[in-house]
Amino acid sequence: MARNIGAACRRCRRENLKLYLKGDRCYSDKCSFERRAFGPGQHGQARFRKVSDYAIQLREKQKVKSIYGMLEGQFRRYFHKADLQKGVTGENLLVLLERRLDNTIFRLGFASSRSHARQVVRHNHVLVNGKKVNIPSFLVSTGDVITIKEKSRTNSHIIESLEAVARRGIPTWLELDKDAFKATVKALPNREEITMPIQEQLIVELYSK
Ligand code: SF4
Repeated sequence: MARNIGAACRRCRRENLKLYLKGDRCYSDKCSFERRAFGPGQHGQARFRKVSDYAIQLREKQKVKSIYGMLEGQFRRYFHKADLQKGVTGENLLVLLERRLDNTIFRLGFASSRSHARQVVRHNHVLVNGKKVNIPSFLVSTGDVITIKEKSRTNSHIIESLEAVARRGIPTWLELDKDAFKATVKALPNREEITMPIQEQLIVELYSK
């Protein structure tokens, strides 16, 4: 499974936004963005820069790709799928990304970051409706019941992540029974619940060129 393994903190500094890609570290004073809140590289601190519309749209797309850990080809396929759906394409895109199993596991607090969530899924710790699902891109649907496999409930990383989830909060489309390591998808996510500052229409404009 291809994935972006570039330096995570560098991506936050590039987007000038905390993307929360490294779990607990993001909430600590070790966060690189807190310590060096300027762009990476030799010209990261340059004061005046003329930015074209294209560059703004491109950065917005790169930001969303970084948040959800996507590569270009995969991200484009999501866009295409969103475009075929009824409704607003940009919103459809974000809802599709939110419905990914790895994102859902992260949102529920079974993992400290989306990359950790991907690992939790890939390593067969997750059941959906009682069946093993180890595909991070699996899309959850209303009524799905997500559980951590009984054997995996002693996994210290999962337990620690679950303890720390109060810091982030759980979105209203999910219901978590922390003690039972079980969650239910109450409804599909909606745009208002995606609180990261994303201007999805810029991505639509970019891909519509
Ligand atoms: Fe971004 Fe800070 Fe987390 Fe690094 S530690 S990924 S800079 S939020």
